[in-house]
Amino acid sequence: MTVYKSSYPSIKVPEESLFSHLFNTRFLDFPPSSYAFIDPNTDLKLTRGDLRDLCLSFGHGLRYTLRDLGGVHLGRGDVVMAFSPNSIAWPVILLGSVAAGLRVTLANTSYVSRELEHQWEDSHAKAVIVAPPFLPVVLEMFMNIGFSEADARKRIILADWATPHARRSSLYVTMTSLLGGDKLPKEEEFRGKQSSETVLLCYSSGTTGKPKGVETTHSNAIHLIHMVRPHFPLAETGADVMLGILPFYHIYGVVKLLMFPFLCGVPVIVMPKFDPTEFCRNVEKYHVSMSLIVPPVCLALIHHPATTKFNMKSLRFMCSGAAPLSDAVVNQTEARFKSVGANTFISQGYGLTETSPTTHLLPLEDHLRKVGSIGPLLPNLEARLVVEDVEEAKEGEPGELWIRGPTVMKGYLNNAEATKNAITEDGWFKTGDVAVRDKEGYYYIVDRRKELIKYKGFQVPPAELESVLIQHPEIVDAAVIGVYSEKDASELPRAYVVHAKGLKGDAAAAFGREVQRWIEPRVAKHKLLRGGVVVLDAVPRSAAGKILRRELRELAKNEVTAK
Ligand code: AMP
Repeated sequence: MTVYKSSYPSIKVPEESLFSHLFNTRFLDFPPSSYAFIDPNTDLKLTRGDLRDLCLSFGHGLRYTLRDLGGVHLGRGDVVMAFSPNSIAWPVILLGSVAAGLRVTLANTSYVSRELEHQWEDSHAKAVIVAPPFLPVVLEMFMNIGFSEADARKRIILADWATPHARRSSLYVTMTSLLGGDKLPKEEEFRGKQSSETVLLCYSSGTTGKPKGVETTHSNAIHLIHMVRPHFPLAETGADVMLGILPFYHIYGVVKLLMFPFLCGVPVIVMPKFDPTEFCRNVEKYHVSMSLIVPPVCLALIHHPATTKFNMKSLRFMCSGAAPLSDAVVNQTEARFKSVGANTFISQGYGLTETSPTTHLLPLEDHLRKVGSIGPLLPNLEARLVVEDVEEAKEGEPGELWIRGPTVMKGYLNNAEATKNAITEDGWFKTGDVAVRDKEGYYYIVDRRKELIKYKGFQVPPAELESVLIQHPEIVDAAVIGVYSEKDASELPRAYVVHAKGLKGDAAAAFGREVQRWIEPRVAKHKLLRGGVVVLDAVPRSAAGKILRRELRELAKNEVTAK
């Protein structure tokens, strides 16, 4: 067996709660009065001290005031759901829940009620903290589950605090009311072995099937931050400012954008979503030095006039992740920034929800020499490249990337079978991605073995879309794959469907367009069939009935070439 070990020195971290660790660790001298999170719309600034106080108040509210106000009783280890777009309230929602000893499941705000229901039921959540504009989705979900209005109300906390859509509510318990009472004297502790208890439940479909709850532990998250820190180009003076556009409900956002900069003393400008003009405006206004991005952000900036309108000179570094970043996009983005007088470098990281997330990071000094690479393995990690689940790939040849180390998830929540399929008995996690390792130990992702499609960094599980498609009264079989679009710098989900009457020609094309519209209200926006819907006579399947996705990918390639 060939095991590649990280060439970086290993790092040891204390076994304690994530909350204790974030607030008690000091790398640089950042006092409680220094800013941690800034809302660029209201200019409201949270200092580190404010955040700690607010979290202990919110934690007390969740454990005690909620119950006193007629809500459910939340005890240590219970699960709460966060369903909110990015806002300055987010760090309080997340870390306040962690201070109270709760586990938090993070839900994508573009979910429709059916998708939210899957996560609610699967995670056994007891309460949901929801931003006011998203309340209707939650109410619809509770109605579908069969809760009475009174029962639903006991489980809802309206995240009205510091959000632009704040509204007073006499019907629901609000975040403001939970912040108004006493404070927890101290956070719940998770010392020693308890540090291996779950703290986050993000949802990922893994290599196959529907989204599953990924059990990220206190220890996973603490390790990740420390493993990344020495290899992330932070300014030694502590003068960095991070522009935050990644959603906090994705592992990449919650660990790398919310926790990592906090521990490193880097203030984060919290944008509710990416918008190129606002991005550039905020770079100028807050002298932003770095940002974590996904590849389509580069594309949007390359062509946008806002890069010339605002002063971009402070922006030193952008690190892309969550999806493949092409050499062309790196070169064009850097050239664009150079043309406006900014020396901005683009690098990339790689990882998965199941690895908390980052396992590889391309160092800044190598970003041109090794363009296209995801970099070497981070400290404390080991890797293997495996062919067909048994054999090791020969040197320089592709194999499925397997990872072992302290950032590998505990498992999929209440799903022993999926966990067993994903993690071997001796701790190797199978990523489902195919990689090549060069002689210097730099890795390149060259293919994906698993079903997963990624649209602009968001997961699109084909199995989920297929199960929705076959509910269409005229569809008898369906398969979904991803097709890459240069224009979008992203994969797009494309469906192949079989019509009950075997439509052909124009009728088939019209039916494809109808299906694209039909699915719109039924799935989250990132799952829309932007790659088109093609009608086939039959979906290619193996003798055992498994969809032959490789054949469909070939078909898609030929369709594109034929155009
Ligand atoms: P998620 O769990 O949503 O973070 O998705 C993880 C998947 O995103 C990986 O298994 C890869 O397929 C893909 N991914 C993440 N980062 C990269 C990258 N830098 N290059 C290529 N694919 C990536």
